[in-house]
Amino acid sequence: MSHTCDAFVLACMDFRFHQKISEPLKKMQINSYDLKCDAGGAKFLASSEKPAVRDWIFENIKISMRLHGVKKVVLVNHYDCGAYGGNKTWTNDEAQLNFHREQLTQAKARVAEKFPGLEVVTVFAKPEGEKLDLLPL
Ligand SMILES: [Zn+2]
Repeated sequence: MSHTCDAFVLACMDFRFHQKISEPLKKMQINSYDLKCDAGGAKFLASSEKPAVRDWIFENIKISMRLHGVKKVVLVNHYDCGAYGGNKTWTNDEAQLNFHREQLTQAKARVAEKFPGLEVVTVFAKPEGEKLDLLPL
């Protein structure tokens, strides 16, 4: 069994998404991944709040690179995320999507600054019936 994997995935701890995330990741050619779950997904990479959380996420990325040869990081924020106050935080889905686009852009910049050699991919997870869509943002 190979001891390398395709990506490091940072996603929210929300139980509704863990099992459903693997199928859409496969469609992105990510068949194996280290999974780090924190409330809000990339929230504390984007924010200046709780720098210790950000540092711990960076530490996990470092470990994933060292142990599993990871060259790609996937940052996943999701629809109706309680860490951001849930759907009621935004007046509509478009506003929510735009907000997360900004969050993920900021988070991506932080990861890229810390790890210039890594490819960083950002997606927004949205339920579609029983399945989950990962929209590139
Ligand atoms: Zn969440």
